Amino acid sequence: MSGADIGLIGLGVMGRNLALNMADHGYRVAVHNRTQSVTDDVVGGFSGNDGGLTGCRSLAELVAAIRPPRPIVMMVKAGDPVDELIAAMRPHLEPGDIPIDAGNANFHNTIRRSAALKEAGFAYLGVGVSGGEEGARRGPSIMAGGPREAFQRVEPILNAIAAEYDGEPCAAWLGADGAGHFVKSVHNGIEYAEMQLIAEIYEIMRTAFAMRPADIGDVFGQWNQGPLESYLVEITAAILATEDAASGGPIIDVIVDKAGQKGTGRWTAIEALQLGLPAPSIDAAVVARVISARKADRLATEALYQTIDRPSGKPIDDAVIAMLEGALLGGRIAMYAQGFGLMAGASQTYGWDLPLSTIARIWRAGCIIRSRLLNPIAAAFAETPNLPNLFTATDLAGMMIHSHEAMRKTAALALAQGIPAPAQCSALAYFDGMRQGRSSAAMIQAQRDFFGAHSFKRTDRDGDHHGPWGGTDA
Ligand code: NDP
Repeated sequence: MSGADIGLIGLGVMGRNLALNMADHGYRVAVHNRTQSVTDDVVGGFSGNDGGLTGCRSLAELVAAIRPPRPIVMMVKAGDPVDELIAAMRPHLEPGDIPIDAGNANFHNTIRRSAALKEAGFAYLGVGVSGGEEGARRGPSIMAGGPREAFQRVEPILNAIAAEYDGEPCAAWLGADGAGHFVKSVHNGIEYAEMQLIAEIYEIMRTAFAMRPADIGDVFGQWNQGPLESYLVEITAAILATEDAASGGPIIDVIVDKAGQKGTGRWTAIEALQLGLPAPSIDAAVVARVISARKADRLATEALYQTIDRPSGKPIDDAVIAMLEGALLGGRIAMYAQGFGLMAGASQTYGWDLPLSTIARIWRAGCIIRSRLLNPIAAAFAETPNLPNLFTATDLAGMMIHSHEAMRKTAALALAQGIPAPAQCSALAYFDGMRQGRSSAAMIQAQRDFFGAHSFKRTDRDGDHHGPWGGTDA
């Protein structure tokens, strides 16, 4: 066969489901996996339309099976495997072919690969795919970067397999080279922060109010009917309702409390620091996972501090539940404000011109951070594409004015009871920092000048000044 519409290499969790999704939509997909038996299993188990999936035993066979210019999706482990695969595939490709990395690449790698492949006459696309296994199979959110004309070659396929929101596909071209993978990375950073915010609210209900997991699950279930509606709130309710057959208790109680991570949240936090842009709730979420992984240290330290009071476990009431709901909403707005601020800043640095409203729109279905809140965010950026920050959007400002007190009370409660709530507290500090016209940084500038003669600007005069620290006003 030489008429396949697209090729796909890497038939792991994501790759096989994307291939099946494409085939379901009538596309002919040539597939290949490094381990041949996997290709045989996937193609052998395929019961869809004739010619939907063609198994290829080698990269040469795969390339020959696709109609030029050939879009070839790589859905393999991120990092070196992508470079190895590109190197192995290159001798078989022709100018104009379109290698597509759909894994979770670090966008710096995508920029590097894009440049190298462009020089060789290929059009490289870096495409972030979100939604996990189910999303890949039924409709993910797709964030593409690279040459626009190359994207247009695959746009109908990506639109067909993507999730839909109000009839609109959750797939878009977002900018040149690394734009798609950068946006996917920020998506994952926001995902980390939202997961951490939810985990903190869960922990407060569990330890400060001694609620049973199933009851907490009911609260999350109710919240999912209102402004907090989101995929992560929904699955939190489902998780807390789940019993463990072996122990007979809630499954959450038998899960080891060490959080894993593959790096995308960390990349986002590092990039924010590199760019000098604030993303404190994403930082806090990454650090919380790192602390969680230090279980032995935590146990040893806990043993030393037994005398510090523990949360009392008093009964919860509706007012506290409403407070926690407000805290989660405000925390989430602050976290989105950071994520979108980061994208706006990076867009300028890397010359991407990221369409922020489109990004909010394609995150409304298919991806892990899909939520009702993305509607007013999309509307805010549609109205003002260069919005200075999300807190200044009218609808979101209204929500923050309504929620900030709940955030304060929740943070105060967590701090007083010794319940770590770094995402909630940093979200609040970020909000307070951003709404402070005059900040404590005057003191920082004075200190810098005092010890390092770094100079400062004055509020009442132009130019660089030094303080009279040594007795003279320079
Ligand atoms: P899996 O571990 O399920 O599959 C990995 C695939 O990569 C396998 O097909 C494997 O082949 C192949 N592979 C690994 N190393 C090489 C190599 N050196 N050369 C060729 N092929 C190689 O991974 P996932 O499907 O979960 O993830 C794939 C990509 O998608 C990753 O970048 C991941 O971060 C990203 N992603 C994953 C999501 C998820 O929820 N799982 C969500 C969104 C993105 P073999 O069978 O021979 O080992």
